[in-house]
Amino acid sequence: MKLPKYIDLAIIGAGVQALTLTTHLLQKSAKHYHKFLVFDPSPTWMRQWQRQFAAQQIPCLRSPAVHHPDPNPYQLRNFAEHRQNELFSPYDRPGTKLFNDFCQEVIRRWQLADKIYPAKVMQIIPSQQLSRPRFQLVLETGETIIARRVVLATGSGQVQLPDWVERITSDYPLDKLSHSQQVNLEQLKLRGESILIIGGGLTSGHLAKGALNLGATVTLMTRKQLQEKIFEAEPGWLGPKYLKEFHAQTDWDVRYQQIQQARNGGSMTPEMMLQLRQASHQGKITLNESCQVSSAQWQEPLWQVSCLDGNQHQFTRIWLATGTKFKATEHPLLQNVLETYPTQIVNGLPVLDQYLRLPKSNFFIMGGLAALQIGPVARNIAGARMACKSMVPAIVKPSLAIG
Ligand SMILES: Cc1cc2nc3c(=O)[nH]c(=O)nc-3n(C[C@H](O)[C@H](O)[C@H](O)COP(=O)(O)OP(=O)(O)OC[C@H]3O[C@@H](n4cnc5c(N)ncnc54)[C@H](O)[C@@H]3O)c2cc1C
Repeated sequence: MKLPKYIDLAIIGAGVQALTLTTHLLQKSAKHYHKFLVFDPSPTWMRQWQRQFAAQQIPCLRSPAVHHPDPNPYQLRNFAEHRQNELFSPYDRPGTKLFNDFCQEVIRRWQLADKIYPAKVMQIIPSQQLSRPRFQLVLETGETIIARRVVLATGSGQVQLPDWVERITSDYPLDKLSHSQQVNLEQLKLRGESILIIGGGLTSGHLAKGALNLGATVTLMTRKQLQEKIFEAEPGWLGPKYLKEFHAQTDWDVRYQQIQQARNGGSMTPEMMLQLRQASHQGKITLNESCQVSSAQWQEPLWQVSCLDGNQHQFTRIWLATGTKFKATEHPLLQNVLETYPTQIVNGLPVLDQYLRLPKSNFFIMGGLAALQIGPVARNIAGARMACKSMVPAIVKPSLAIG
């Protein structure tokens, strides 16, 4: 594809958030609205999603079958008419393959395959040159394009590491200490290894199961007691039950606290909890709850790990399933944009207007960075749908556009 000089809307990222946005845009205004391009280093949609589900060998989604990128909530159930055995109880959670196949069908039906321009966006420069505010996107290829509006949908934030990782003074082989995003179970041989996994979210559970299957012994260490929850945040956060009060709250710090409380660190699904407890009873896994590492040093061929309770342990590898954090000020694509369109930043999250724009701009943000408007599910598929409800009117209705 030849890169045009100008585009009405540039969507940055081709993940599930962006895919959800494009189908909702086309549904609202298919006749007029194809003036967008999606930028991603990958030439195909959902690459990061597929990579992560494969790397962690995740059999099915945590979210129910109504959460997917198509505007019709029942579309996935219809698609699964002859594949009922790939919908898992409770709440018909789609199997990984079913969900991926469905997304391919969505891409085909909405004719989105050729909407991706395969290049990483390196910089976004707000520009007044054309007498109206525009954004210049600088691509990894060196090319540039002017966009009237931009949607940032770049995903998961930056990896979050515990303090003690920075205090490691010994050199260590890089593959012996990994964040969960770097672990690829498909490519590892772990027989005879002992692995410390840190974190109480579902990712720890997937990695623990994967490591056990590959013949390792596993210790799962969590700061708090393991929590059991079906979803990451209660379903009340998908509708007015909790969101009414959330949106009425004008103190952004309080909103931030509400988001934190709703997600409350990580949690395991009941079925994962059952599997972990069973493995623990069989002596295959050690669940070390309410325990924290104070320091770790590499002494070939083992990690020497000290905990706050005074105990010492040895492991061949450490995996940090400690999540990611969303920090607007550290996002490489937001530096210039925030200078031109400053907004209050609350614990890393930008305050956006009701259409998810930086104030007085045509710069939209979806995903975890939009949590102060969307609430605790902002980063999830359900959050993408909610973001579309806010953003799409401002994109398709001329009366709501800026500039
Ligand atoms: C293992 C795992 C399982 C999950 N399971 C569920 C679930 O079952 N249900 C649910 O609702 N949520 C789930 N989530 C949460 C969430 O839905 C996913 O993280 C999802 O991938 C987020 O979508 P996204 O589009 O924001 O980000 P991503 O899928 O990460 O996509 C972002 C895209 O942006 C691109 N990008 C980044 N920077 C640039 C740049 N500078 N220029 C161009 N492109 C760029 C990346 O290449 C990437 O393709 C899960 C998350 C993880 C990690």
